[in-house]
Amino acid sequence: MKSQDIRAKFLDFFKSKQHEIVPSAPMVLKNDPTLMFTNAGMVPFKEFFLGNSTSKNGRVSDSQKCLRVSGKHNDLEEVGYDTYHHTMFEMLGNWSFGDYFKKEAIAWAWELLTEVYKVDKDILYVTVFEGDESDGTKMDQEAYDIWKQYIAEDRILMGNKKDNFWEMGEQGPCGPCSEIHVDIRSAEEKAKVDGKSLVNEDHPQVVEIWNLVFMQYNRKADGSLVELPAKHIDTGMGFERLCMVLQGVQSNYDTDVFTPLIREIETITGTKYGKDEKIDIAIRVVADHVRAVAFAIADGQLPSNNGAGYVIRRILRRAIRYGFTFLNQKEPFIYKLVETLAYQMGGAFPEIRKQNTLVHNVIKEEETSFLRTLDQGLLLLDQVIATTNGKTVSGKRAFELYDTYGFPLDLTQLIAREKGYEINEEEFNAGMKAQKERSRAASASETGDWVTLLDDDVEEFIGYDILTTNVKLTRYRKV
Ligand code: ATP
Ligand code: MG
Ligand code: MG
Ligand code: MG
Repeated sequence: MKSQDIRAKFLDFFKSKQHEIVPSAPMVLKNDPTLMFTNAGMVPFKEFFLGNSTSKNGRVSDSQKCLRVSGKHNDLEEVGYDTYHHTMFEMLGNWSFGDYFKKEAIAWAWELLTEVYKVDKDILYVTVFEGDESDGTKMDQEAYDIWKQYIAEDRILMGNKKDNFWEMGEQGPCGPCSEIHVDIRSAEEKAKVDGKSLVNEDHPQVVEIWNLVFMQYNRKADGSLVELPAKHIDTGMGFERLCMVLQGVQSNYDTDVFTPLIREIETITGTKYGKDEKIDIAIRVVADHVRAVAFAIADGQLPSNNGAGYVIRRILRRAIRYGFTFLNQKEPFIYKLVETLAYQMGGAFPEIRKQNTLVHNVIKEEETSFLRTLDQGLLLLDQVIATTNGKTVSGKRAFELYDTYGFPLDLTQLIAREKGYEINEEEFNAGMKAQKERSRAASASETGDWVTLLDDDVEEFIGYDILTTNVKLTRYRKV
């Protein structure tokens, strides 16, 4: 089944259960002082859960563009190294705002997976909240009793507060959740660990696909829980992971969500995916990051030197760096993928086609200027090495390279090592620590699903010189 059909089937299914199908909200949030990016499907609906506003329709379903690169949900460093965490991904979701509750949410999740998508029941596991005496939360017996009508009891696993209790923040709506996991290991692989369940053990073929959150409590300021008068359902299923299961492959990157991008990267860079782990990681990083950056730009968020724009710039630079180091790309190349991406995703997300030219130009310009910086940094590193006595390069100088040219330690190490030098890591880390302390006061303090952005000494972004008919680009001045 093609990914397009998988997405459509999800929405059709919930439409048949009287849900209103709504388009994805933007991935970049403009008017929320507490959060930079939509990091879960429920974000656009949080006012309903907080009771500040009421929904016209008690049942809603969509596929939401999410980005997990900051705050409570930050998967950036995983991306490329594993095969199932992305920066940007789609979260398929169905919601009940004070309408149906656990019975229907579980029954429908089961029906969709096993009857519509025809997932083999023998690869499914579910988890149920085990309770936590320390704060008075009880085991979710109700969910357990519903699940056991569908699935063998030895496939219902108990989960702790970290994995199976969802809270919006220190206060507010919260409740237990049940997660659905798949185990797509081969029979031989399973035999190796003697039938042991590897749920929540970071195994690339034993992954969580769907989280069903049962919002039934309100946590008060004193920490106590009261039952909510109207209970809500919030579910989120990773679209790319679902595609992996339904397309019978072992990695999200082997689904048709990613293969067109990967083929294109292979062609442009003259590499081959699946032969060398280092190259594979780099290819995954590029394929993942171009999506995040392109969709952010299509939402109107340009790379810049502060706030959300800086996060986007860092993601793109990470991709450039992996391309530079492992795919031997010394000239801009990531922008060339935008066409393929627009073709692949434009049906479900028209903005990516509409903003194609802008996205293409912005990425190209960013690549050009960062590669220039990399070149300058390389020259500087050569000078540093030339003046180094012995074989250990000063960590202080390596930190300067990082601070001024965005040269991360691993890149500096890599280049230095090629010339037979090491970097004094302790010195580098000391510089890093001092810088973190300096910036702590001026940066975001993030506690829950929402971050609180403190007023910060805003470094202004001087805009791009790109003309586009679609987006008005404001140029800022230093204040
Ligand atoms: P995981 O434990 O795998 O990190 P999670 O528990 O953090 O996932 P949830 O917050 O429950 O994820 O989000 C709902 C669903 O979204 C998950 O079940 C998963 O399928 C998907 N998902 C979460 N994070 C990512 C990601 N970084 N990339 C792709 N899919 C993701
Ligand atoms: Mg996670
Ligand atoms: Mg999880
Ligand atoms: Mg989860």
